[in-house]
Amino acid sequence: MSDKITVGISSCLLGEKVRFDSGHKQSTYVNKELRDYFDFVSVCPEVGMGLPVPRPTIRLMSNEERIALVDTKDETKDHTDGMMQFTTQKVAELEDTEMCGYIVCAKSPSCGMERVKVYTRGHARTDGVGLYTQHLMKRMPWLPVEEDGRLNDPVLKENFITRVFGLKDFYESMGGEPTAGKIVAFHSRYKLTLMAHDPQSYKELGRLVANQADYDPADFYKAYRLGLMEGLKNRASRKNVTNVLMHIQGYFKRSLNKDEKAELARVIDEYRTGLLPILAPLTLLKHYLSTYPDDYLAQQKFLQPHPEEMRLRYGL
Ligand code: SF4
Repeated sequence: MSDKITVGISSCLLGEKVRFDSGHKQSTYVNKELRDYFDFVSVCPEVGMGLPVPRPTIRLMSNEERIALVDTKDETKDHTDGMMQFTTQKVAELEDTEMCGYIVCAKSPSCGMERVKVYTRGHARTDGVGLYTQHLMKRMPWLPVEEDGRLNDPVLKENFITRVFGLKDFYESMGGEPTAGKIVAFHSRYKLTLMAHDPQSYKELGRLVANQADYDPADFYKAYRLGLMEGLKNRASRKNVTNVLMHIQGYFKRSLNKDEKAELARVIDEYRTGLLPILAPLTLLKHYLSTYPDDYLAQQKFLQPHPEEMRLRYGL
């Protein structure tokens, strides 16, 4: 892929001093590892809606009618309408772009993706979503969204980055002019990836692709994009990945000698039982693929869903 990937981000995670106390929440992973690959679109919804820096802290408050964004120390100061006005306009802008992911700051009443505190008469429950991010996820349900803290988890991180690169690949493959043929070709390249993440999604998307004639082309494009991104959201389980590895193994049954076959079977089995990381069977399979080339396998995204230098599969 040529260009960097466009990804939205809460400004404070980039180190911008936009928080209520004039501080930031710079994420080392974002700034050290992701900047080489991602072009960040920085958004601070609170500053964007006109709140100053520094500013009084705000929080979500639930009353009978709605969840409101209010000053922590003076609940009569209600910022909900201002936030929704900014949010609606900003998200509408983003919807028209080919943004491929979004990293939000955890716990914030504006940016948090989950488990944000919502207060009712002094008590807090922790099932809220920041108002900006809630609207973003509602309007762009296909968009990979993740929180800074969750990116410390190797499984969640790999899943998020796979989705971001997958969406970028999808947009690039369509080249701004999606056609049924391009989607069919894309679907074929993502067969093993989808089988690893969610075999059910692969089947459902296959049905969608087979019945594309029943759809308006724009609706088909949107339905495929959403189904793809929902499918990839599922964690690629060891069981599903083992099935995929065994499927790939089948492509080499005529090329490998007895010892090579036994070694490959052993490495796949040791991955299945957790003794080896995914990288072990993948490295061996890629070695066999370079020795015994196969066009269909070579184009499977499963073998390289993101750049190797990102080292995302090391711990899996
Ligand atoms: S969490 Fe969101 S609203 Fe708060 S400072 Fe960061 S970018 Fe701004």
